[in-house]
Amino acid sequence: MTNTIAIVGGGISGTLTVLNLIKQSKNLLHIIWFDAKNQFCKGLAYSTTDEQHLLNVRANNMSIFVDEPNHFVNWLTHNYPQYSSHDFAPRKLFGEYVLATFNDLKNINPFITIQQIAEEVIDIEKKENIFEITTTQTYTAQKVVIALGNFLPAHPRSVSKKFIESENYFQNAFHSTIIEKAIIKKNITVIGSGLTMIDVLISLHHHSFSGKINIISPHAYIPQAHAENALPSVKPFIEENKLYQLQELLSLVNQQLKKAKTEHLNSQSVIDVMRPYLPFFWINFSLNEKQQFLRHLRHKWGVARHRAPSESMAILKKLESSHIIHLVKGRLVDIKSMDDVFEIHFSDSKIGQQSFKTEFIINCTGPESDYLKIPAVLVQNLLKNKIFTPDSIHYGINATKNGEISPDFYTLGPPLKGILWESTAVPEIRHQAKELAAKIICN
Ligand SMILES: Cc1cc2nc3c(=O)[nH]c(=O)nc-3n(C[C@H](O)[C@H](O)[C@H](O)COP(=O)(O)OP(=O)(O)OC[C@H]3O[C@@H](n4cnc5c(N)ncnc54)[C@H](O)[C@@H]3O)c2cc1C
Repeated sequence: MTNTIAIVGGGISGTLTVLNLIKQSKNLLHIIWFDAKNQFCKGLAYSTTDEQHLLNVRANNMSIFVDEPNHFVNWLTHNYPQYSSHDFAPRKLFGEYVLATFNDLKNINPFITIQQIAEEVIDIEKKENIFEITTTQTYTAQKVVIALGNFLPAHPRSVSKKFIESENYFQNAFHSTIIEKAIIKKNITVIGSGLTMIDVLISLHHHSFSGKINIISPHAYIPQAHAENALPSVKPFIEENKLYQLQELLSLVNQQLKKAKTEHLNSQSVIDVMRPYLPFFWINFSLNEKQQFLRHLRHKWGVARHRAPSESMAILKKLESSHIIHLVKGRLVDIKSMDDVFEIHFSDSKIGQQSFKTEFIINCTGPESDYLKIPAVLVQNLLKNKIFTPDSIHYGINATKNGEISPDFYTLGPPLKGILWESTAVPEIRHQAKELAAKIICN
């Protein structure tokens, strides 16, 4: 009998699950693969058409296959010889690579058939041992993988309907019309100062924006540049299989950072050495430790692990030195929508409450990950029918560390953030997808 697997989500998580099923399955398998936006093989991150939006991981760590570490570099240097393994290639090319790999492999396994459906899944129900997956039609499958990825950021707190519906406010920083609307303004504001903000600045710069850009965030931390001509890395300092408590791990990292400073080593490598182990520690942290991390360390960790290529950071510096950028440290208190202009009220412990006016606002605060607040119909239906629940810290879905939500129902990638903490980048997703495919096939 042919087993049917439904995969909901055509981004990297869904694609790598499909590719690993193709590579591993030795039995008849039919895959029904859904994507609401017809962004198969690319998803949000790699659908960009802006060549200046670069990967923030070097090419030599962006292979989609665990067992073929040079897979991306070989494709890249063959098709675009101007790039090397050490480069931060355009994200657009990475999307092209994933699509080309899917097209190369989709017919190689005679046991597998794939049906791609460019429709939004609005409900999934389990009736006896069969899942019913609803779009405009109903499909059935024995197993389901939900790879829903990143959702749009939450709107700023307590804003009006008028603000949300304004044509000068963009909740989606990657919206196709955003730049053409922004460049005709004299004063725009970006809320949030992470990697999405960098992408927006790059696109604005590329389109010769010459007005003023306010960037507001509670700590005004900006991403670091990847160290060029890096100093030697620190030596591995994590004891294999030891379960560190949060405080213990923190002192160890601080100790290594001091050592890196005194011995002229690359301080970023302290984070790089620790990062692959973090999911293992995270799973074993108590709820209290996780909450402590979220309260005191989340922003610092974000800055330490989110790094941008130095080419991208050079653009930010250029905009800073030409006084186009104005970085504001403060928490948003209110945004008043007036005629043709917004008034942003913010507060900071040092300066108290202040305000400024702006014509255009782009939300770069990062994806909403509290599933109770995500308005997507599928999410609402799955919560209502208790098909899944949020994890204990509300950063994704409750599941095992291997992505099992309930028997025959799985997830991977960003929805596992609350369970693993680091679960959104390609180096993490490629491992998850390989293991998930093996589990699906053998169960
Ligand atoms: C701007 C950006 C840059 C990044 N850069 C890097 C990088 O350089 N290196 C790196 O390692 N990582 C990077 N990442 C992180 C990582 O690659 C992404 O998080 C990853 O692509 C996530 O893939 P995904 O498939 O889980 O999610 P997504 O790409 O968000 O895809 C999810 C897909 O699911 C579909 N979907 C959702 N709901 C439904 C539904 N109900 N029915 C049907 N379809 C649905 C959506 O249409 C979407 O196409 C970046 C992320 C972003 C956002």
